Amino acid sequence: MALRGGFLCPTYRLPNPFSFTSRSRDAGRRFAESATAAVAGRRKRPQNVEGEFFVDHLCIDCDTCRWMAPEVFTRVDDMSAVTRQPSCEEERIKALQALLSCPTSSIHTERPTNKILEVQKMFPLPIDEQKIPGVYHCGYHSERSYGATSYFVTHPEGNILVDSPRFTERLACNIEMLGGVRYMFLTHKDDVGDHEKWSKRMRCERILHSGDVEISTADVEKKLCGEGPWDIATDLKLIYTPGHTEGSVCLYYKPLKVLFTGDHLYGSEESDLAFSVIYNQQSVSLQLKSIRKLLDFDFEWILPGHGRRVTFRDNQEKNSALEAFLARQEPLYA
Ligand SMILES: [Zn+2]
Repeated sequence: MALRGGFLCPTYRLPNPFSFTSRSRDAGRRFAESATAAVAGRRKRPQNVEGEFFVDHLCIDCDTCRWMAPEVFTRVDDMSAVTRQPSCEEERIKALQALLSCPTSSIHTERPTNKILEVQKMFPLPIDEQKIPGVYHCGYHSERSYGATSYFVTHPEGNILVDSPRFTERLACNIEMLGGVRYMFLTHKDDVGDHEKWSKRMRCERILHSGDVEISTADVEKKLCGEGPWDIATDLKLIYTPGHTEGSVCLYYKPLKVLFTGDHLYGSEESDLAFSVIYNQQSVSLQLKSIRKLLDFDFEWILPGHGRRVTFRDNQEKNSALEAFLARQEPLYA
């Protein structure tokens, strides 16, 4: 299934070699042009409705604001736009949370608002305090992770940061107040964002599969080798799920029935299961094999890096959905 609200992986962000012809241009003119382009990029898209909030032209279509505040943000012409202004305080707070989470800072208000200081204190955001207490959405998505979602989990044997939010001192202080971080688990190489800053600030151990270690992650403290599974606490398991990348790993939190999937498997805007073929960096058939592996684990939540969250009534519903998804996809990539 094609990913609507598509995300960007490294391969697709390489500079166009033809752009180097610009070296021959006058440097001053180039600076003026880039400054003008930056200002133009921050202007309001005409697709926004009039009112307090708007999205600018630098939106990377990562989908974050649309799932965080669906009443306000919609996809119009391959980018997000404000299609309805918040109509109550709850919607306004959600729109401000989306503003702080936008990886390119592309959401703005017409006038500065003090309310933002109050909203900053809310992160990380509890996902569902009743059903999965202690599991939070970090917000502050990082452009270096192509806008991926990161999570924070409080745990008696040590708290865990799952993938990397954008580093901000405010978020670091808020996480510290919840007990700090013992492990920073990196699902795969695309979503490592500001991992160095977090590991220094929190003095946490980073975990990444050796198949995904690159120059920027060469000093990660724990490199997983082989096919696992690995336990990082009595009830927290790491499941090897290669395919999207060679070192993709999911984190399974058994008592809460939560699976953190990185980019291995996620929900689409249409509430179906989905994965990305165009951003696959290893093997689609191997990725499908790794998705089949998930039938052996009892979970009701998929918390992904890119794409939408998915919840199931129970394990049986999860397995039916997985079987139906695999039945559609496997024949295409046999
Ligand atoms: Zn990825």
